[in-house]
Amino acid sequence: MVPIKPHAYAELPDEFHTCQMWQGFKNPLLVTQNVELKKELGFQDVETQKLLEIFNGSFKIKSLKPLSMVYSGHQFGQYVEKLGDGRGLLLGQTDSAEGVIDIHLKGAGKTPYSRFGDGRAVLRSVIREYLCGEAMHALSIPTSRALMIIGSDEIVIREKSEKAAMLARTSKTHIRFGNFEYFHYNNKPEHVKALADFCIDNYSNYFSKTKDVYEDFFKSIVDQTASLIAQWQAYGFNHGVMNTDNMSILGETFDYGPFGFMEDYLPTYVCNHSDHQGRYAFKNQPYIGLWNCSALGHALSSLISEECQGEILKTYESTFQNCLAELYRKRLGLRKSKNGDAHLIQSLLDIMESEKLDYTNTFRNLATAVIEDHTGELSSDVAKAWIKSYQKRQEIEITSSEKKIKLLNENNPKFILRNYMAQEAIEAAEESDFSVIEKLIEVVTNPFDELDEYEHYAEKSPAWAKDLEISCSS
Ligand code: AMP
Ligand code: MG
Repeated sequence: MVPIKPHAYAELPDEFHTCQMWQGFKNPLLVTQNVELKKELGFQDVETQKLLEIFNGSFKIKSLKPLSMVYSGHQFGQYVEKLGDGRGLLLGQTDSAEGVIDIHLKGAGKTPYSRFGDGRAVLRSVIREYLCGEAMHALSIPTSRALMIIGSDEIVIREKSEKAAMLARTSKTHIRFGNFEYFHYNNKPEHVKALADFCIDNYSNYFSKTKDVYEDFFKSIVDQTASLIAQWQAYGFNHGVMNTDNMSILGETFDYGPFGFMEDYLPTYVCNHSDHQGRYAFKNQPYIGLWNCSALGHALSSLISEECQGEILKTYESTFQNCLAELYRKRLGLRKSKNGDAHLIQSLLDIMESEKLDYTNTFRNLATAVIEDHTGELSSDVAKAWIKSYQKRQEIEITSSEKKIKLLNENNPKFILRNYMAQEAIEAAEESDFSVIEKLIEVVTNPFDELDEYEHYAEKSPAWAKDLEISCSS
């Protein structure tokens, strides 16, 4: 028995989606599967080959009602009236300890929302999405994940010819800010309400039926968004395409495209080479999160007064700042918050910026600063002075070096997914060698461990990686 059931979204009126089957590959092949996630979801008894056939559509579960969703969204600040799952399909849902989980196929062929696209995803982009989902999950950052990558011999055209692949993706929801925008701008307030009610009924871990039910619904989304973006900032993650159609209403990282983990600390870092204006630069993410929430608020205008929206949006900044301060405090190995902590962290960031230090490694190597007056990165005079004040601050609450080091190493990853690592996995996979994916999964899912044999992945990227350009094409 395969524990996938029809998605509750299929019960919503036809205007919300198109129920349809999908186009599997003629010669599907297993690129990789997520054994851990399979276990977590209770899929461990489903044979790999069977699961592959299910996702490819060669084995049909008759009861399922696969569907493509319609949505719209603001892309790079401009409203685009009809987007929707152009190459994705909500296959169904499964129960888990944390509530229902969506099972979605990315790259499953054309849908009524494909516009000019071919409905496919390339192997390169699904490998990146798979690796990053696991890397983020290991850092406890809310994210979609993936169960399986299905490869093919089908060729699709992007900037060059590439192999198509499918990703079987899981997430708590696939409802985006853009689903609400679609109905709002199509003048369907009754559907906006039906969708909000659907969310409140189906995601009871997030929303509750209070007196001010829609205000609280919106407030919860604003909170989750602020908290998610604080987590991105704390770990140096740049999403790259923070359009409202890529924003989950449950605050999960979603729709990985040209993402990147920042290496040298650079607030103006832009991972997406197609983003010429730098709208989605690292330092802009907190503001864009708020901009997106206000776009959602606007789409909820038929349910929440403008005044109320304004009040709720005002809370975004403090939620964001509090979450970020908490995360940075952890990264400094501090238990309690004290006056002066904000200054301490800002001075560290300033040093990283002016000395072009690796964000991840500077934090990781703070564990050395516990016993020495300089670490590999922090060795300039300014940095040494900073370490002195840091040591003094840390001493107030913890005196044992052992405890300090443990706390620091538990909160500062040694390994992140650097772009070049994903690139190595992609280049090997394009030659049918999927072993690099497996190796990298071991690294990124154990980011806090020493992993001596993978020491080189904790170093700065090699010189050749500087020219890697990640665009929107996927
Ligand atoms: P994304 O940049 O992946 O978030 O996609 C933006 C929009 O374009 C979504 O509506 C996608 O479904 C659609 N899209 C992206 N790539 C394709 C494709 N190859 N075929 C059809 N639709 C696509
Ligand atoms: Mg998208």
